[in-house]
Amino acid sequence: MLELRDITKRFGDVLANDRVSIKVAPGTIHAIVGENGAGKSTALRIAYGFYAADSGEIVVDGEPRAINSPHAAIALGIGMVHQHFMLVEPMTVAENIVLGAEPGSAASLDMREAAEKIRRLSDEFKLSVNPNAIVGNLSVGQQQRVELLKALYREARILILDEPTAVLTPQEVEEFFAILRGMREQGKTVVIITHKLSEVLAISDEVTVMRDGRVVGRLKTSETDAAELARLMVGREVLLRVEKPPARAGEVVLSVRDLGVKAADGSARVRSVSFDVRAGEIVGVAGVEGNGQTELIEALAGLTPHDALSGAVGFRGRDILRLPARARRELGIAHVPEDRHRRGLLLDFDLEENAILGTHYRKPAASGVLLNESAIHNLTVKLIKDFDVRPPNPELPARALSGGNQQKLVIGREFELHPKLLLVSQPTRGVDIGAIEFIHRQLVALRDAGCAVLLVSAELEEVTALADRLLIIHEGEIAGEVDPATTGVEEIGLLMTGGRQKMKSEG
Ligand code: ADP
Ligand code: MG
Repeated sequence: MLELRDITKRFGDVLANDRVSIKVAPGTIHAIVGENGAGKSTALRIAYGFYAADSGEIVVDGEPRAINSPHAAIALGIGMVHQHFMLVEPMTVAENIVLGAEPGSAASLDMREAAEKIRRLSDEFKLSVNPNAIVGNLSVGQQQRVELLKALYREARILILDEPTAVLTPQEVEEFFAILRGMREQGKTVVIITHKLSEVLAISDEVTVMRDGRVVGRLKTSETDAAELARLMVGREVLLRVEKPPARAGEVVLSVRDLGVKAADGSARVRSVSFDVRAGEIVGVAGVEGNGQTELIEALAGLTPHDALSGAVGFRGRDILRLPARARRELGIAHVPEDRHRRGLLLDFDLEENAILGTHYRKPAASGVLLNESAIHNLTVKLIKDFDVRPPNPELPARALSGGNQQKLVIGREFELHPKLLLVSQPTRGVDIGAIEFIHRQLVALRDAGCAVLLVSAELEEVTALADRLLIIHEGEIAGEVDPATTGVEEIGLLMTGGRQKMKSEG
């Protein structure tokens, strides 16, 4: 139905696509998978007429076609939903959909008729979108469905979706996949770009794997598995689940008692939470995002206004509830924040400046009032090497690194403190699978060196693989504690959504 033949595309020095050939069969869901920067978006944007290829051709329905604009793609029945939506927020769904479809005639067009067609399509594909709703009032998931409707309204037979699940919650992903299966049943062809293996396996019929601008695998989904896809994507064997010996937990390092944290509006975000973390163990916190885990970690890192706190926090026998963040770092408490752009990095500063962020005032970065430039340089070079930060150039601004490499830099910097306690939130969000494996190994190594680790992650697979004990947080309270090695995801999921843990005596 759609074929890319030997597509090559350069951006300056970057060979984004190197003789890329992809064949999409009609009526299938075809996944394009690869790490960040592999060339996935570029290839499909060429098919959509958004970029011109340097060489190669696009074949639709068996005929080579000149697709030199999205308009030409749409005329051939190709629609694309981009990572960033292109909707006008103050306008209605129907206005957004009609806009651009009938150039110049939006005003004179019969909007009632258009709304009727949109309603029919929404019903047919189970999108539950109201054509008269204002786009700005819709959730991200609903806006994405408006983008789908826009393509369907223009009679697209092939829908190209670029990382459509990146903006969705896990529940929304399920609903979205049901919609895609419905489209396939109605005879549509879907191309879905993703870097998540679980999604490839869940939704696709066939898969094309890309790496470094090339196609490195063409597979039927039923004949492959996560390990093979990971190996193709990364170019080497990847351990998808970190291997770890049982924890050898030592003395209590962090002791949290009846901790309460209030938001600025006075509402309780963390409610009377109590737990310990010992040296040499990883305690995980699982929960649906927004249930207090962010506030919990920030309170422990010393980032919360004092009057919002209640209860007690002990660190190696000392009360630190109201100790400032810097003093906590001095004691050996490191923090990898969930939002590395807001808290972890200065994006416009170079890697050297970021490497000493938080410790710039003391050795080795400073001696007296002066910054020790060669010590900073050496530290940065070591960080880059030990944590495999790419590209390995200390003078680049942090902004020039991919998300995964930014995260490796932050993690490396915090690990360099040789902390006694590590507070870490969402350590692998936006990170490629090769780097995820690396970060997981580093976390286990830090544990085995005797560090106490408190890990928050929205990825259930991640917390269950890493944690030695798992706390489940729901509406600011600890809803239960489980052994992740022996507890099923169903039980954990139930606790996460407010089910109570059975008391031991009931069982
Ligand atoms: P993917 O979608 O697999 O993450 P892309 O197709 O976006 O990868 O990018 C492939 C390569 O091309 C990357 O190195 C990226 O930085 C580069 N690239 C993509 N788009 C542009 C552009 N418009 N200008 C310059 N370089 C680009
Ligand atoms: Mg992309």
